[in-house]
Amino acid sequence: MPRRGLPFRDGAPICQTAATPAADGRITDMRLFTCTCGNTLFFDNTACTACGRRTGWCQSCAAVTALEPAGDHWICQGTKTGGACGARVALCRNYAQHDVCNRTVPAGHGAFCDCCRYNETVPDLTVPGNRARWARLEAAKRRLFHTLDQLGLPYGAEGEGVSPPLSFAFMGDRMAAQGLWRPVGEAERVYTGHADGLITINIAEADAAERESLRVDLGEAHRTLIGHFRHEIGHYYWDVLIKGRPEAEAEFAALFGDPQNPPYGEALERHYRDGPPPGWEGGYVSAYATMHPWEDWAETWALYLDIVSVLDTAANLGLIHPEPDAETDVMVRRYQTLGLVLNELNREMGLLDFVPEVITPAIAGKLAHVRATIARGPGATP
Ligand SMILES: [Zn+2]
Ligand SMILES: [Zn+2]
Ligand SMILES: [Zn+2]
Repeated sequence: MPRRGLPFRDGAPICQTAATPAADGRITDMRLFTCTCGNTLFFDNTACTACGRRTGWCQSCAAVTALEPAGDHWICQGTKTGGACGARVALCRNYAQHDVCNRTVPAGHGAFCDCCRYNETVPDLTVPGNRARWARLEAAKRRLFHTLDQLGLPYGAEGEGVSPPLSFAFMGDRMAAQGLWRPVGEAERVYTGHADGLITINIAEADAAERESLRVDLGEAHRTLIGHFRHEIGHYYWDVLIKGRPEAEAEFAALFGDPQNPPYGEALERHYRDGPPPGWEGGYVSAYATMHPWEDWAETWALYLDIVSVLDTAANLGLIHPEPDAETDVMVRRYQTLGLVLNELNREMGLLDFVPEVITPAIAGKLAHVRATIARGPGATP
């Protein structure tokens, strides 16, 4: 495996599509940033651990930067092509009031940042522990958006030209009200899922013990918050990129199966009654993917986002060299090579395998279809 040493340097994105364009058009996809004092800043930092400066994500320079107070606002201390950024920004309301965000908003551009503005329902903060659960959800969501932007994927709120509009609901079960949770909304039980652009996550998933217990019960290799976001956004993009486009739907059915036969409800019942078919590993990313073509799509999509983001971060950290135009099979090979190393390191520390999947040619074919669907975008049919 090619290696490059520290210090880390800015690299090209590993995927073919564009990385996050900063306001000046520069492509930025660094996962490590630099404070005014020279200290390294990370994607989630709200303050510099060396000099104590307030930090936040600046949309204008597409980076986590130091912020200097200026009356009611803050001035970005980041740099971009041509010199200092100097953008006048406000902290996102969820940053300033609840400390669950680390993004800023250009002054005069509303209360919520480019990630928090999609929230429809947030956890009840009178419940002890919910602020921390919400913070973990938002941290995973920010990484999701970073990858969506890298891939140039469209999304928008109501009235912003993307159908369906995207929104998020983070809610707790009524059933668990006697214990840790309090009801939010009318539902008795909150199911993590996607419907018409609304992504709902049960906030119990933000508790490590709850999530691990579910992972073991369901026999899953991984169960993570970022994984939930990547899976559910896969359902969202099925609606945005495939649904209602006859040729795209036919292409999808040819590879993943007919989503109408059997109908979703029937497939769900069968899956929980009979389990996955023997030998499923040859054609599916996970046992859950065998349940229905839409779940196969969402699981495959989530793996594609795993691959894109892991390769991008690894390239930015100097672990692998950037290969911006790599085809899907090359991306898969690079991911599995990296996975081999990271799995051994994780095993050395008694952790779960970093890359648990064996990506067979059949799965790689589905990944290539996900990639082609993203490249085609919502504007045209195949
Ligand atoms: Zn500093
Ligand atoms: Zn800036
Ligand atoms: Zn925010």
